[in-house]
Amino acid sequence: MLSADCLKLAIATIPKIMSFEFQIESTSNRARAGRLITAHGEIETPVFMPVGTLASVKGVPQDTLEELGVQILLGNTYHLYLRPGVETVRELGGLHGFMSWPRAILTDSGGFQVFSLNELRKVTEEGVTFRSHLDGGAHFFSPESAIAAQIGLGADIIMAFDECTEYPADRARAQASMELTLRWAERSKKYFEEHKYEVPWKGNCQPSAPSPGGSGQVKNSHQLTRVPRPGERELAVAAAELRSAGQPGAAVPTSYGKTQALFGIVQGGMDLEMRKESALRTIDIGFPGYAIGGLSVGEPRELTREVVEATLEHLPADKPRYLMGVGTPDEIVEYARLGVDMMDCVLPTRAARHGLLFTSEGRVSIKQARYAQDQGPLDPNCGCRVCRRYSRAYLRHLYASNEVLAQVLNTIHNLSFYLDTMRRVRHSIRLGEESRFF
Ligand SMILES: [Zn+2]
Repeated sequence: MLSADCLKLAIATIPKIMSFEFQIESTSNRARAGRLITAHGEIETPVFMPVGTLASVKGVPQDTLEELGVQILLGNTYHLYLRPGVETVRELGGLHGFMSWPRAILTDSGGFQVFSLNELRKVTEEGVTFRSHLDGGAHFFSPESAIAAQIGLGADIIMAFDECTEYPADRARAQASMELTLRWAERSKKYFEEHKYEVPWKGNCQPSAPSPGGSGQVKNSHQLTRVPRPGERELAVAAAELRSAGQPGAAVPTSYGKTQALFGIVQGGMDLEMRKESALRTIDIGFPGYAIGGLSVGEPRELTREVVEATLEHLPADKPRYLMGVGTPDEIVEYARLGVDMMDCVLPTRAARHGLLFTSEGRVSIKQARYAQDQGPLDPNCGCRVCRRYSRAYLRHLYASNEVLAQVLNTIHNLSFYLDTMRRVRHSIRLGEESRFF
């Protein structure tokens, strides 16, 4: 039994539990190279995050993703909420336990899918009523329920519930949408602060289901039914660490006592002044990281770049900046150069499944008959397991024959190409040789 004095001493000597940290290690003009430290590992930035919509990067097993050097995956709250459901994932230990992925995960708030997949949605101050694309059933997301869902899913980084303003939108519409997103950001943060210790990570306390309006019943008897207060948790960690020090093998899980990080999202349509206002007022609410949302919604690429550049100017230099939903290999390099730290896009994985491959020599549409006899590798400058082993002719045959392996191999190459691209960007920033790569 540890005395109170012993515990106090232990608390004073153990490092403060940091759930989330961002360190910038090198800069080159506006580009930054650094690392995000999350409860499930470190992420080198700038980073490209592959999209695993339904807790799966379609066609690619988790061990292959690890081999490719994926440090963080993105999951979609809307899709996971509909199938298999948040409670199922929570009971299986959150997404990390459910999909057997020990590294970091980010979930979106569901807002973008609700706005892009649902023509029958109805937006009120309270939230959004929408219909499932699976069975047409009616559902409702509010800032509170979207955060509750993301706490249940247990990603390391979660997003405030926002309204993705459609394009084009007139000034009055963009303004009203931005104001709504700001009010929802405050509600998202308030709910998160009150419930952040409910994340179902191994070693953490798991209270009863927190979903607003839910039954609140405890489903498993081993789950704890109370949420420890701040301070109490540190005490428990200190005691656990002391115990484990005397008991080799009884390691405290690295996620113990840590919480998720909630990012805010800047909206404001394509109006640069409104983007500035949205950025400043979102910063006033206060988040450990900021996303630029509402882009890649049909606007010309030049406008995307202009809005990104103008918004970045107003985001704090010491916090991670996440540009949602971009882009091509050229674009991700360009945005990293402007000072973006995190990006995600379905393009490399979706294009791969349609036979569109990104290579150092440009785009290859592998379905074309011209590759039928081509014995060369897909990309002579790529060291991925696909380019090392298979010919263009074989990949073309797999695609033409509608073999499942075509989707698997194409996706592995495209992801590898994106990840290698970001690796080279980081390397160039660290060497101060931005111009060489960019
Ligand atoms: Zn390759």
